Amino acid sequence: MMKSIVLKRGRDESVRRFHPWIFSGAVASVEEAPYEGEVVEVLSHDGHFLAYGHYQKGSIAVRILTFAQDFRPSEDGRMPLAFWQDRIGKALNMRRTLGLPSSGTDCYRLVHGEGDSLPGLIVDIYGDVAVLQAHSAGMYLSADLVAEALMSCAGVRAVFNKSEGTAPHKAGLDLHDGYICGDCLSDETAVSENGHKFLVNWAAGQKTGFFLDQRDNRQLVGSYAAGRKVLNLFCYTGGFSVYALNAGASSVVSVDSSAVAVGMLRRNVELNSGESDAARRHSAVCADAIDYLRDSRPGEFDLMVVDPPAFAKHRDALDNALRAYRRLNAAAIAKIAPGGLLFTYSCSQAVDRKAFELAVFSAAAQTGRSVRILRRLTQPADHPVNIYHPEGDYLKGLLLYVE
Ligand code: SAH
Repeated sequence: MMKSIVLKRGRDESVRRFHPWIFSGAVASVEEAPYEGEVVEVLSHDGHFLAYGHYQKGSIAVRILTFAQDFRPSEDGRMPLAFWQDRIGKALNMRRTLGLPSSGTDCYRLVHGEGDSLPGLIVDIYGDVAVLQAHSAGMYLSADLVAEALMSCAGVRAVFNKSEGTAPHKAGLDLHDGYICGDCLSDETAVSENGHKFLVNWAAGQKTGFFLDQRDNRQLVGSYAAGRKVLNLFCYTGGFSVYALNAGASSVVSVDSSAVAVGMLRRNVELNSGESDAARRHSAVCADAIDYLRDSRPGEFDLMVVDPPAFAKHRDALDNALRAYRRLNAAAIAKIAPGGLLFTYSCSQAVDRKAFELAVFSAAAQTGRSVRILRRLTQPADHPVNIYHPEGDYLKGLLLYVE
């Protein structure tokens, strides 16, 4: 029996505008206690079908999978394999339109949650391995079906589930990372991005192993890096650093507080530069980025990348996060050499572009230096934003020219 969620009168508006979430405050009644992650049908107050979606306890009660009845849930309360094959097929078509994969790039995001009408699901491709990350109970419980669809449609030889840290802990699921389909002798592979080489370890790395969302921004940094003295703060495994070195930066210092990341950074520089002069232009530093910046000489660097982790994971942390962005950017603007280029980012979903820019504006004002915005930066096209879900526009950046 299909379980249903009935909305309050007048609370079906956002669903009719195709917003993919139903907040618990909009729910009038939950019929027959669905399990967390079960597919429910969403009905208007007068009983009209609106959508199917994954039910979960919490502020988002339903994450919508379809506004149509093209696929119906199976007896077990999950969407059938054909649904997943259809959606993965559509996601693949879009990436093919973008030219992904290409001769120079074999790593990309295949499924970007709401942006691919699959709320709660991330799938990143590294060569012939797919790494799946569930952010909802429903996606975690369907991981085997998603994996089967990936094996049959996306031509991968293994699917790794990296959801232990992201799927809800309170939903009573037995969370663990590991291969769902296929197997790999090693959890690590070498991928290419715009012709640059990177080692990715999906088991030991952060997120799915690599920050694919900075691909276009790394390319941009490469295009300005020749002859520059580069400081890459929050460098992780050295994405921006490798592009800058390969583009002829005169020196690159990369800073991250994670020893695992810095170990991988060293190997990535070596993989691209060997024993050559590029490797000699690079220093890897395992330290707190803010301390490092504070102790650096004014004018020591004339290109900086500042790409911190999400300071605001939730809305209640917003004020503190904005203060942190302001302090960090003020320190960077104060220290950069005259004529310097500052690439600064926020990946906090709770901080919108306007708030981030305001924080950077007041940081600039604090230093009193003349600062121009050269570009506004964002996530690449394989991280699409669902037009009905503007919250998906999470990566915000500015390229500043500091006099
Ligand atoms: N720019 C990177 C991604 C950065 S993710 C890329 O292109 O791949 C954010 C990084 O910040 C993580 O690697 C995390 O280990 C690091 N980090 C978090 N807090 C830090 C701190 N206080 N100082 C230095 N690094 C920090």
